[in-house]
Amino acid sequence: MKKNVIIVLIDGGRLDFATKSDTFQKLTSNMIHFTQSITYAPYTTAAMHAVLTGCYGNRTGVNSYWNIFKFKNKQFLTLADYLSKNNYYTYADGHTELIIPKFGFREFNVHDEQKINLIDWHSELLDNMKKKYDDGQNFFLYLHYSKIHTGISNEVLKVFNNFSREYFDSNDLNLERYSKLFNNAEIYLDSIMNKIKKLNLLENSIILILSDHGISIGEKFGECAYGTFCYDYTMKTFAYLYNSDTKPQIISSQVRHIDFMPTILDMLNIEIDSSFEKLDGESLIPLIKGENHTEKFAFSETGNPLNNNAPPKIPNTKSIRSAKWKLIHNEYNDTKELYDLVNDPNEENNLIGKNSEIEKEFSKELLKYTDN
Ligand SMILES: [Zn+2]
Repeated sequence: MKKNVIIVLIDGGRLDFATKSDTFQKLTSNMIHFTQSITYAPYTTAAMHAVLTGCYGNRTGVNSYWNIFKFKNKQFLTLADYLSKNNYYTYADGHTELIIPKFGFREFNVHDEQKINLIDWHSELLDNMKKKYDDGQNFFLYLHYSKIHTGISNEVLKVFNNFSREYFDSNDLNLERYSKLFNNAEIYLDSIMNKIKKLNLLENSIILILSDHGISIGEKFGECAYGTFCYDYTMKTFAYLYNSDTKPQIISSQVRHIDFMPTILDMLNIEIDSSFEKLDGESLIPLIKGENHTEKFAFSETGNPLNNNAPPKIPNTKSIRSAKWKLIHNEYNDTKELYDLVNDPNEENNLIGKNSEIEKEFSKELLKYTDN
């Protein structure tokens, strides 16, 4: 039998909180820890479509909140498509139908994010999947931890907007609010990992724990939560990958969300179907094995709503980054920003016009995605 696949998505989990967390630190003892995994989009829908297709949304069609149903399923396969073709039982659980592509999922359950106890519910789902496995069927289980999102939605998005002065003047409160929500995510993750171990699913499963995007705690005026800008407090996320055949290690090179789907398929020896569109992502196995690997650019984009109540239909803010540099193009007013991420990780010192070599190279790279 092949290995099962379990994805645990910590919606809105911040990288800096995970780095400081004992619960997350514990994962590094037996997992591959990616310390900078770049999201395609700083909001769930576009981010998760990219994770589960290995392709950027500018090609799959899902590049904005408005285009959730424009996924080109005749041209692109999802991870669930591949796994169900390989006789996996595919099950997704999340707080809305809109977060991930439903294609390829045999069951897609929507939980009530305000009421559900996700530790109990996801443990029950793991029990059910274990029974399938004991009966000789592989499974792919997608678990969406929605509670950080729910808390931010209730306490920030419904109360403030991107230009609420009182929000940006309340750093301590913002930090406290987020810390509480993150702490609950830690308790959840701890319980779920214990459950997986107790069911003896570790040896025979590939497990990916990741965040779709971070959430602002008031860093930049104009973005009270996420989805507006392309700064690292939302774009740079965490990822932990478990496979008993692969030795635990820390990978500090930049990787991209779109690389995980081809990596999982590679681990399972499932070939990419060449009758569909080519993937943007690449298997990280060579990087994990320490073979020659050149860092790839990471492309991201989002729709800044500016003064409107809803984001625009197509993205108006794009970025291209390496581990060292990031170029942002604000298409709505045709301005650019360039950041030295090593010396200025908070992206406070815009170097546009001051480093023409990097600016030229990154502008040229970004054009490859805007011309599509
Ligand atoms: Zn999200």
